[in-house]
Amino acid sequence: MKALIKTEPGEGFELTNVEEPKIINSDDVKIRVLRASVCGTDVHIYEWNKWAEDRIKTPQIGGHEFVGEVVEVGPEVKNLKKGDIVSGETHIPCKVCYQCKTGKMHVCKDMEILGVDRDGVFAEYTVVPEIVLWKIDESIPLKYASVMEPLGNAIHTATATDLRGKIVLITGAGPIGAMAIEIAKISGAAAVIVSEISDYRIKMAKDMGADLVINPAETDLHAEIAKFTDGHGIDVLLEMSGSVKALNDGIIALTNGGFASILGVYNDNEIPFVMNTAVFKNITIQTITGRKMFETWHIASQLLKYKKIDLEKVVTHELDLKDYKKAFELMMSGKSGKIILKIAD
Ligand code: NAD
Repeated sequence: MKALIKTEPGEGFELTNVEEPKIINSDDVKIRVLRASVCGTDVHIYEWNKWAEDRIKTPQIGGHEFVGEVVEVGPEVKNLKKGDIVSGETHIPCKVCYQCKTGKMHVCKDMEILGVDRDGVFAEYTVVPEIVLWKIDESIPLKYASVMEPLGNAIHTATATDLRGKIVLITGAGPIGAMAIEIAKISGAAAVIVSEISDYRIKMAKDMGADLVINPAETDLHAEIAKFTDGHGIDVLLEMSGSVKALNDGIIALTNGGFASILGVYNDNEIPFVMNTAVFKNITIQTITGRKMFETWHIASQLLKYKKIDLEKVVTHELDLKDYKKAFELMMSGKSGKIILKIAD
């Protein structure tokens, strides 16, 4: 089969022919991948940064966001059959650790990550256990089904607290921040403010319906927020930039007793943080990893099925798998939202 593979340590991927994966475990499902989308993690692997160098074992197929068609099921697969359209969770839980057994499968201690710890989905076929798969309603377009995983990040982060009547600041309108604008609005936020430094993404945030978009590199973020909120400040911070500056500015912008939901991943593990500000404001900080299994998948499906959100302005490009280099260049330029790779019809 055709696959986008990191053959050896170093920059890039290679589009080449490899053996099709086989069903090994009784709960495995083989999927013909139809669409896959490119995530920042794939870009790190493509670029071969320090994290990728330490984590990725080559040769390995990249990619983890996908939608596909079930073509074969293992003997113990219960709820899926040939022909079903599925998307799936990137975090493959062990099902037996303390976290998995106590309702916290999304923070499984021994989770494996698709396209990071094992072969991913930038390929004609992939094999994963039934537990990670989510059946897709046929009314949901493939390009949106492919991005249900990052949509789940946005939902997990935005629904960590009650947003009804709240002023929300989203720092960073990358694809996930942009999706969070819609989620915050339909979750009852009174107003959604976005801070973003890239012109392309400022436009995307406006198109997604942000009430106020601030470029903190050009305008005084705190003065703008004070003006917009009559000096109240923001009630909720959704940190989706991975920028230390944006994180600290977001904490400073919070009203006393506010809530910060942090999805961003920072270049360094140890970062300067406005800790005393956070303490004296008595804020609640919720860090977020991945998606809730599978509450956020259910919410994502329902919102897409009943057309309560529209991802048209976030899914900005659809390219053939063979044009993968263009996809990665676009991602690295920051002049895109989500990019979909078309693998099969
Ligand atoms: P992205 O990198 O495409 O978007 C980040 C955005 O933040 C960019 O548009 C960038 O211009 C903007 N930005 C950078 N510095 C800024 C600043 N000082 N002020 C305002 N905006 C700024 O990322 P994404 O794919 O949308 O993901 C969002 C974040 O979530 C990233 O940090 C990513 O690593 C992280 N992430 C975390 C998880 C998790 O499980 N915790 C999962 C996926 C992604």
